Amino acid sequence: MEARARRGTSGTPGGGPDAAVAATRGAGAAAHVLTVTGPLPASSLGTVDAHDHLFLRTPALAGQDFEDLDRAIEEVRDAQATGLRSIVEMTPIGCGRRPDLLRELSIATGTPVIAATGYHRDAHYPAGHWVYEASVDLLAERIVADIERGMHPADWIDPAARPDPARAGVIKAGASYQHVTRAERRRLEAAAIGSLRTGAAVLVHTEVGTCGHEIVDLLLANGLAADRIVLAHLDRNPDPELHAEIASRGVTLEYDTPGRIKYRPDSDLLRLVEHLVGAGYGDRLVIGLDLGRRDYFRAWGGGPGLRYLLGTFVPRLRMHVGERAVDRILVDNPARVFAIAGLGVPV
Ligand SMILES: [Zn+2]
Repeated sequence: MEARARRGTSGTPGGGPDAAVAATRGAGAAAHVLTVTGPLPASSLGTVDAHDHLFLRTPALAGQDFEDLDRAIEEVRDAQATGLRSIVEMTPIGCGRRPDLLRELSIATGTPVIAATGYHRDAHYPAGHWVYEASVDLLAERIVADIERGMHPADWIDPAARPDPARAGVIKAGASYQHVTRAERRRLEAAAIGSLRTGAAVLVHTEVGTCGHEIVDLLLANGLAADRIVLAHLDRNPDPELHAEIASRGVTLEYDTPGRIKYRPDSDLLRLVEHLVGAGYGDRLVIGLDLGRRDYFRAWGGGPGLRYLLGTFVPRLRMHVGERAVDRILVDNPARVFAIAGLGVPV
């Protein structure tokens, strides 16, 4: 309830976003992120695509699965040539996550990859899937195991299987359009527990940008700090006032429709970023492409391709908000939000 009271104070967020950044940095000069090849100094991430997919298979997008290492490597190399350095791969448990291939890709291309544990919204799991029956404790336990021991190699179908050496470094959760189902609520609770135990951020899929406040309320009520929460796809509902209001709660917003013209022209998205930066929330935003269909990749003969973020969108963004704001959005903010406290410290 305290969190709700903070709403609507977009001009004067508690402590201010800059204060939060300073506090994080002050807490430890060497913050680390957890990539599929192990912990890395967060400062070495460079430019980050904060939400994308390299391997994916889900019943919600039949015929659009992609699970081809060579094509993924080709796509990543093409993006590297534009200046992209690191990728946050948000394919969660049950959606064709491939820790082994992510590791191979990361080593082959030299690209740091932060992989996801956690769960998507209901639409991505067929009736009878174990995620509906599992207790909150079991859901949380599997999140923690993916982060601490290494990701399960096959979506926890056979719980006894040996974990892959690649550990997850971020937790996914998801909600439906205009409502959070009972099962999604339980998975959000599990994500909060997983984050409290490991320190990893929780990135939540919002459907068409809805339920933002509700999701934040639920996670805060479960003990999560606002700076561990990232809300994805808010740009699908491009409402600048709502976005500033949510950012004022200390949450990070993630936009991911650059180049996906079926949603809206990039000019609209550029104005949206400009508004958020102008309202003082330039350090509450990260951007990815969220290419979740085979047709979105150049290596599969489609587009816009992974190269679009740095190659096409960011040069335009720079003209709208300037170099410093772009560095915050692409480099500083992801380094802060995906860092895990205590990582990299010898025990
Ligand atoms: Zn996604």
